[in-house]
Amino acid sequence: MTTAAATHTFAPGDIVSVLLPLPVEAAYDYRVPDHETLVTGDVVEVPLGRRFEVGVVWGPGKGDVAAHKIKPVAQKVGVPPLPEVSRKFIDWVAAYTLQVPGTVLRMTLNPARRWQPPVPVTVIAAAGPSLETAGVKPTPSREKIMAAVARGRTHATMSALAKSAGVSAGVIRDLIDAGVLALLPVKESDEVFTNTAPALEPAQKAAAADILARLGQGYSVTVLDGVTGSGKTEVYFEAIAEAISRGHQALVMLPEIALTAQWMTRFHARFGFAPTEWHSDLKGKQRRENWLKVATGEARVVVGARSSLFLPFLNLGLIVVDEEHDSAFKQEDGVIYHARDMAVVRAREGAIPIVLASATPSLETMVNVQAGRYSEVHLPSRFGAATLPSIGVIDLRQHKPEKGHWGRAWLAPPLVSAIDEALSNGEQGLLFLNRRGYAPLTLCSACGHRLHCPQCTAWLVEHRLTKRLQCHHCGYNAARPTACSACGEKDSFVACGPGIERVAEEAQARWPDAVVKMVASDTLDRPSAVAELIDDILERRVDLLVGTQVLAKGHHFPNLTLVGVVDADLGLSSWDLRAAERTYQLLHQVSGRAGRAERKGRVFLQTHDPAHPVMQALASGDDAAFYAQESDARKLLTMPPFGRLTALIISGSDEIQVRAVGEALAHHAPRGDGIEVLGPAPAFMALLRGRHRQRLLLRTWRNVRPQALLQGWLERIKIPSSVRVQIDVDPQSFF
Ligand code: ADP
Ligand code: ZN
Repeated sequence: MTTAAATHTFAPGDIVSVLLPLPVEAAYDYRVPDHETLVTGDVVEVPLGRRFEVGVVWGPGKGDVAAHKIKPVAQKVGVPPLPEVSRKFIDWVAAYTLQVPGTVLRMTLNPARRWQPPVPVTVIAAAGPSLETAGVKPTPSREKIMAAVARGRTHATMSALAKSAGVSAGVIRDLIDAGVLALLPVKESDEVFTNTAPALEPAQKAAAADILARLGQGYSVTVLDGVTGSGKTEVYFEAIAEAISRGHQALVMLPEIALTAQWMTRFHARFGFAPTEWHSDLKGKQRRENWLKVATGEARVVVGARSSLFLPFLNLGLIVVDEEHDSAFKQEDGVIYHARDMAVVRAREGAIPIVLASATPSLETMVNVQAGRYSEVHLPSRFGAATLPSIGVIDLRQHKPEKGHWGRAWLAPPLVSAIDEALSNGEQGLLFLNRRGYAPLTLCSACGHRLHCPQCTAWLVEHRLTKRLQCHHCGYNAARPTACSACGEKDSFVACGPGIERVAEEAQARWPDAVVKMVASDTLDRPSAVAELIDDILERRVDLLVGTQVLAKGHHFPNLTLVGVVDADLGLSSWDLRAAERTYQLLHQVSGRAGRAERKGRVFLQTHDPAHPVMQALASGDDAAFYAQESDARKLLTMPPFGRLTALIISGSDEIQVRAVGEALAHHAPRGDGIEVLGPAPAFMALLRGRHRQRLLLRTWRNVRPQALLQGWLERIKIPSSVRVQIDVDPQSFF
């Protein structure tokens, strides 16, 4: 374990410790080469075996290797040094997630590896004094240089400036020596920004003032809690405007960056420039360019997914996490971390404010507000004349969907007449079902055999559009078999239950004149597809949308007045600590798409359990009661946020080995007050991508640090290399 120390300067011959972006336990020692000075955080290329690798100077060398064996650093890479706060943050995340720091560093450093050509980090600019005041004779070539500098563009190198002025580089060097020109570190772009803020409503004004007052005042967490459509985005835009006018960078984290076309347009309209994006769809050159912009401070606002948190910001002054409750902020493989939680840590390490925005904050966040750790600003109503939609519950036991000429139906009569009404008024509707494909289960009507994935504990989902049966977990797909493999019966397979394709089929059959459009992650396969879809909706080229959760978030469609939730019970059946909370949040979000402008919205929840607390909370709008009830239940069971959970997921291709590791872990489990180990037990997905899986769950009191327990625990047993043990601190999923 290495620790990023404060910044040191190292002279030629000094030994430095260089952290490499690799899953190795420790940083390695290297020697500072002749004629080179290094500082902590410098990005350097070093020899590693027979190749070269790019790493970061992490501190003084450990000196545990014989001096003659230590190799010199090959070269400094031409990118700005990694700031101290980034280094501390990497160490913190590594310790918390029980990863080696190199693995975390990889998320920060990736685009800087194989960097070429080296990018200059200084620019030549006017130092202040004119030729006259500096007592330098104004020759024609000197005048040309000064004119080139005054034209406003900064020049990265002497040769570039010399070329643009049409003089030799020697002239520039003389002017630098004379103090007329200076080599300055690259800093914020001189791109102008406009600040076309709308007039805020009183509640927005108060919320914005509250957040603005925290800028520059060190670390703070503010929860911006306001119903859907209340104008939260405008409020945090105010804070961003202020942060950048003070010369700071701002980071906005959004759960699903691919779906944020509308957000981008709004941002541009407001600020007159596009934010710098950061997400996994960025490729090669664009990725390196954006990375460098962040590192040099040129990028003033970054909008990104989870990993944007690990960017090497030069001077980050504000973080906003929008839709903070969203489970997409949890990274589930590689370094397993929760980006919202780590964003709070990043803010603390950087002594800056963070804003967590949501209409339905997570229970964790609510409890932090109640405990006084976070402060809260509240927007109580929708912006302008818009009001919240009315939410009605349809009891499917009383109102059974009526079969039609197309076959089975999923829309109950009250919902059907509400859609009739909306369509005849020229309004748009959304049918929400969080399930892709045609049917979630295909079974043989002769013997009951169910088609499941050969590699996962999961049924195959029929997709009629692609005419394939798909596993939604591993990507396995196959054609529908003509005969049952269990009983041999021909053409005996029937589809069970609905996916959005099936609901769309019903909708089109019921409303043949309506334009029905299906929307899911697999129909939005190109970035432009999202923009086109939004256009189609805004321009009313679509009457009825049938979609999954990709449509639930953030969007603003003024003419959409009706939302029908086809199966409101869907998320409740899973065994998950947060099943009720998640369902509540998702349904609240999707309901929030209805009636966001002048026309009032209506929402219908189809359920078999109208008395369920989630349905009750949604229908009554009493979210406080729901949160209180959830909170009490978790407290009673010492579940998060009142206790801590850490999951151990053991997997491998050999089931016996996997079970043996699970049992060994249980045998050596830590014991003590406030420590409890559950399992091992086969995971809910006992087979995933061909790997057998067992799970253990460590539950501890809040004052017990699971990391300390885990380290000792894992050292006590021998894990064969063919078995993998993943540690998920604060797990969000339990499958
Ligand atoms: P939220 O983020 O809370 O869901 P938004 O910020 O998206 O809400 O606001 C909802 C709608 O109201 C958007 O169309 C937005 O442009 C508009 N809006 C919000 N505040 C203002 C304001 N002060 N002036 C004009 N329009 C506003
Ligand atoms: Zn599978």
